Amino acid sequence: MRLTDQHKRTIDYLRISVTDRCNLSCAYCKPRTEMKMLPHREILTYEEMLRIVSVAVPLGISRVRVTGGEPLVRRGIVDFIASLKDCNGIEDVSLTTNGVLLEEMAGALYAAGMPRLNISLDSLDPQRFERITGSNNWTRVWSGITHAEALGFFPLKINMVPIRGVNDDEVADFARLTLDRRFHVRFIEFMPIGANDRWRRDSCVPSSEIRATIERTLGPLVPFASHNSAGPSDNYQLPGGKGVIGFISPITRHFCGTCRRLRLTADGKVRPCLLSDTEIDIKSPLRSGCSDAELERLLRISLEVKPERHHLNENGAEAGCFQRTMSRIGG
Ligand code: SAM
Repeated sequence: MRLTDQHKRTIDYLRISVTDRCNLSCAYCKPRTEMKMLPHREILTYEEMLRIVSVAVPLGISRVRVTGGEPLVRRGIVDFIASLKDCNGIEDVSLTTNGVLLEEMAGALYAAGMPRLNISLDSLDPQRFERITGSNNWTRVWSGITHAEALGFFPLKINMVPIRGVNDDEVADFARLTLDRRFHVRFIEFMPIGANDRWRRDSCVPSSEIRATIERTLGPLVPFASHNSAGPSDNYQLPGGKGVIGFISPITRHFCGTCRRLRLTADGKVRPCLLSDTEIDIKSPLRSGCSDAELERLLRISLEVKPERHHLNENGAEAGCFQRTMSRIGG
């Protein structure tokens, strides 16, 4: 029987964090205190991930997103993606990257059958990028993006997290990119995860405000619907623009009711909701030689505890109650 949770949501999408390592240190993502890297033996091997996927596919998982940490820093990632593509029943494999290694790896990714990418970029200004990420790799990331565009990756989604007083003055510049390029620029509301001690409710710029800023600067947005518009993004276009502008609003307009996701953390936990700390250990049984039936049982249990919705908008949600490392869980 297919994976359906207590709230009648059908689950068909798995996000896999393949590593907790990252080649950037984004101030809003990494905890301020020294982050302990997981020992290598604690990270699932690719074979273990593929075994879990092979159990999940007959239950209805048909889409996989590879994330991290930074997935491109893990050795063997291109072959892993090719193996995912070869899994019978997997219809879609996608990748989220910070783009630092994209220029050298885009060709191999494309050849492995990955025709589209999500790239995270929080500033178009190299100095500001360095302040946010602790790295002077802006030019490298931008070259990676333009190289991927030239190779034919489509859609190329550029994900930006506007943070008040940090980079929110750039939202119109990001939106402007869609005028003459087919980029899909998406603005994601800042959530209290990762470096949660830096999150304040007013540092999250609501999508409505981002949209108003864009419309004030560039004119009214026109709703955009595509055949593939089932995701969490509300999509628009600038009149005459080639690309798409999306708003993802986990804080101000949560989309929990239509959530179809499960997550597999880098250290082998099934996490039914990004914004709840409940996790089911699947690695220990896997490493003690459990059967596929037992793995299936664990996947089903994780759905029994998948919350109906997150509670970030309730009093006290910002009081440091979320102790998560984004990289282990996968953004
Ligand atoms: N390294 C890859 C990348 O940069 O795309 C994948 C992992 S990263 C954790 C995935 C995404 O999570 C990035 O787009 C990042 O901006 C986003 N992210 C991290 N912390 C966030 C937060 N507190 N609120 C919203 N998005 C966040």
